[in-house]
Amino acid sequence: MQAPSVGGVMLPRGNGETVRLSRGASLTDFAEKINANPASLVAVMMNLGEMVTATQSVSDETLQLLADEMNYTVQIVSPEEEDRELLEGFDIEFGEDEGGEEFLLPRPPVVTVMGHVDHGKTRLLDAIRKTNVVAGEAGGITQGIGAYQVGTEVNGEDRKITFIDTPGHEAFTAMRARGAKSTDIAILVVAANDGVMPQTIEALNHAKAAGVPIVVAVNKIDVEGADPVKVRGQLTEFGLVAEEYGGDTMFVDISAKQGLHIDSLLEAVVLTADASLDLRANPEQDAQGIAIESHLDRGRGAVATVLVQRGTLRVGDTMVVGDAYGRVRAMLDDKGNNIEEAGPSTPVLVLGLTNVPGAGDNFLVVDEDRTARQIAEKRAARERNANFAKRVRRVSLEDLDSVLKAGLVQELNLIIKGDSSGAVEALESSLLQLDVGEEVDIRVLHRGVGAVTESDISLAMGSDAIVIGYNVRAVGRAAQMADREGVDVRYYSVIYQAIEEIEAALKGLLKPEYEEVELGTAEIREIFRSSKLGNIAGVLVRSGEVKRNTKARLLRDGKVIAENLTISGLRRFKDDVTEIREGFEGGINLGSFNDIKIDDVIATYEMREKPRA
Ligand code: GDP
Repeated sequence: MQAPSVGGVMLPRGNGETVRLSRGASLTDFAEKINANPASLVAVMMNLGEMVTATQSVSDETLQLLADEMNYTVQIVSPEEEDRELLEGFDIEFGEDEGGEEFLLPRPPVVTVMGHVDHGKTRLLDAIRKTNVVAGEAGGITQGIGAYQVGTEVNGEDRKITFIDTPGHEAFTAMRARGAKSTDIAILVVAANDGVMPQTIEALNHAKAAGVPIVVAVNKIDVEGADPVKVRGQLTEFGLVAEEYGGDTMFVDISAKQGLHIDSLLEAVVLTADASLDLRANPEQDAQGIAIESHLDRGRGAVATVLVQRGTLRVGDTMVVGDAYGRVRAMLDDKGNNIEEAGPSTPVLVLGLTNVPGAGDNFLVVDEDRTARQIAEKRAARERNANFAKRVRRVSLEDLDSVLKAGLVQELNLIIKGDSSGAVEALESSLLQLDVGEEVDIRVLHRGVGAVTESDISLAMGSDAIVIGYNVRAVGRAAQMADREGVDVRYYSVIYQAIEEIEAALKGLLKPEYEEVELGTAEIREIFRSSKLGNIAGVLVRSGEVKRNTKARLLRDGKVIAENLTISGLRRFKDDVTEIREGFEGGINLGSFNDIKIDDVIATYEMREKPRA
């Protein structure tokens, strides 16, 4: 078949072959895979009515569209898949225990506490931490490292449980969204005086979606009006039937505040794990797991808490965590003790990484520093590419509609700064509730209290965000930077006005605002009558300048006599002129309008697009 051409460029044509492209690939990446000239792909896109440059990252949809047009099948490779392939390149398999059954030994369950706000998640995590220092390790003060381990005795045996110390399903879900499985069992906290609430259901659904067994902690039984039986009844509707009613979910009545029945709860966790999970891992292999928390410490550099999922992590090991790597310089447990090694299900604080990984990033130990560096660098490069995919061009509210229509962005990124956290939260939640159809998402990238800073502007630059300042301004260098980089910073002092404007912009309805600017005034000194032109005003320009073809109004004793007139003729002596300046005399013809008197004032103005304040 003859390949079609556009403007002399031969268009590539496939036979339905599959092309694998990573998310955020550019036309050049695509062209490379099919051995074509990138320019020809640009031409195809142009044919399809989209202007795309060869090196710009494009959306999944654009890649699909392009592939369809050229008769290829495109397969977009997810970041997780890509990572697996990357590791395979180094002969590393992540996520599976090495060796057979005989290498596997039991490991403690890892637990996340979830539930409705105020039902006592934080209090429960505190209570557990306080009452159950792992036997024989007393003395140390628990450090907040993002996770901790406690011991409990079940059927005469000492058992351990690891708790992820950030309550709530948000962290859990965020990790899961990144393909990381951090949790074996969820404790669902329900306050007995409040019963099942919206976030109870939400948490329950998240746990179910992840296939994680649930233990229900019916909390606040010390409070008057507590009704633990009712909670059991309510949860039945959601498929959680208590054991005492013939179901297989363990319910434990507790008081986090008074430390009541915490041991029974821990026992229930262990029993549930034994009954429904086979928690074993190979402690002998190179360690693997996930990062739970990390930050940059002034004295110690990058600090990350990791949860070892298999293998044993040792001081001196070379590890990669997300796009950070390094040799483990020291490890601290949840009590701040230095430790030499950490086995499966142990959370440890690791020192020695090059930079700060993200929560949910996987970690693995490799043999050589060089391998660690290469993996980290490849991941960092991939991350950069993916970020570029999001970066399209600077967006302003005025051009948002056209940018959206052109398919250049599918979301409106916002950075919200305000003078109080209450205002910022109110603004954020109202904006997120805007119903703007399915095509556009509103994302709040960052929010905070205080002036708009340089860091806000650079974040906006990197992700095409619009900055909203509520009762705050960009100051000094931040303002200059916004100006220079073309970042749209909008100031509001009324919340609903901000909401209205954003909504209007999303609907493509944001009209430029015009304001009237006075140009000049002229006083009528004489009136000339012309049979051809009607009345001509002999004037002295009092202020500014009077220009031909501008709008004018006529004032008599300070009152407006006529509006919307036009300076249709302008003369000085015998000559037609385009303007007459302050202090000069001349003649003005207002077209067909003739009702002028001596001492009337002709005020001219024009409508200018108003810079939005
Ligand atoms: P979270 O939002 O789920 O983390 O809830 P918190 O742990 O912050 O608890 C919310 C409020 O309930 C706090 O004032 C706690 O002191 C209180 N609280 C938590 N557990 C109990 C309990 O067992 N009994 C009583 N009376 N109050 C509790």
